Amino acid sequence: MNHFNYKNNQLFCEKVFLGDIAEKYGTPIYIYSKATLLHHLDVFKKAVAIVNGTVFYSVKALSNINILRLLSENGAGFDIVSGGELHRCIQAGVDPKRIIFSGVGKSKAEISAALKLGIHAFNIESSEELERISMISELLKQRADIGLRVNPNVDQGGHEYIKTGRKDDKFGISFAEAKELAKSYKDNPHINLIGIACHIGSQILELDGFETAAKQMLALSIELSAVGCDIRFIDMGGGLGVQYNGEETKTPDELLTVYAKIFKDRDEEIYIEPGRAIAANAGMLVTEVEYCKNNFLIVDAAMNDLIRPALYQAKHKVHEVVNNKVSKKTFDIVGPICETGDYLAKGVELSCKTGDLVAIGTAGAYGFSMSSNYNTRPRSAEILVDGDKFTLIRKRETLSELIANEVES
Ligand SMILES: *Cc1c(COP(=O)(O)O)cnc(C)c1O
Repeated sequence: MNHFNYKNNQLFCEKVFLGDIAEKYGTPIYIYSKATLLHHLDVFKKAVAIVNGTVFYSVKALSNINILRLLSENGAGFDIVSGGELHRCIQAGVDPKRIIFSGVGKSKAEISAALKLGIHAFNIESSEELERISMISELLKQRADIGLRVNPNVDQGGHEYIKTGRKDDKFGISFAEAKELAKSYKDNPHINLIGIACHIGSQILELDGFETAAKQMLALSIELSAVGCDIRFIDMGGGLGVQYNGEETKTPDELLTVYAKIFKDRDEEIYIEPGRAIAANAGMLVTEVEYCKNNFLIVDAAMNDLIRPALYQAKHKVHEVVNNKVSKKTFDIVGPICETGDYLAKGVELSCKTGDLVAIGTAGAYGFSMSSNYNTRPRSAEILVDGDKFTLIRKRETLSELIANEVES
């Protein structure tokens, strides 16, 4: 569900016409709906309540600090994967006790920053990482709270690059290794093993992979408790898919019903880490047609603004900001970047001419957060819509900002 709708052939976000935002702040521009973000968070919070669980929003999906603050004020915890995301959360006023740190490559600096702030837990992904955390927490005279991220060996996810739960993927450790580590660290004074975690992939449209993973997690938790670990949480990760272009999706309720069956009668808290399912349908990328050439619409947004089509062959729906209902033609929507891979959508039916605005749908997650300055293009502005008001939450980058860090030799 989202709050982007046509009224009299004009595309609105909540009560704001997208054309008004583009006129005031220019294009390309990311536009998010506050009501949609809060609705999605609420649906997850209600769903997870049946297992007495917690929602940790995955920051990398959409990480503007204004969005983080909004979600935090409405009860979300946060799943981070870098020191940069930790910094964002703190700037947004997030309580460190509501932060989980995931990721395969945590640096020493990232680990000490998170330890000093007192985050809720590190989900570790290798024995070397656990050793590193133990050394740093000894140095800081602390005790680190740890979840073991395991790899359930399930093949799920919308694209090769976003499958993370197969045994040969770089993520997590094997169940056998988890048991070994639990034995060797359970009495370590600087390590407090309190959870287990997994995250099997992203844009997952079926429930069976989540179910298989959950059954394995349950078995592991029982085994670790048997060797004397106090496992307080089972973190099932994120991954629930969204509708980009007509796909059938599963709801948070359906997912949590599966988890509730498997984890019934257990005392561990169940954590989930949705990113895409909260942010994707809450955002659109609005861009202006610069040129029409044959079947190409050349627009002012490009793969540096939204890389998902180029990187994952993702198919986003495209909407006319003013649906003028004249006869439609089939277009490929491409950007100005010097690569044939620079496209936003292919084979879409539109009636568009130079100067018209189009909106790329379902762009809230892994949109702005994956954007770059390739071709020395300033990153776009971001807007948050709330009812009939819209607020600039990130300024468009300027040309001087683009080269500000390049010291002259
Ligand atoms: C990326 C990621 C998520 C979020 O995945 P979505 O598919 O966006 O829900 C959750 N947990 C971890 C560890 C991740 O790396």
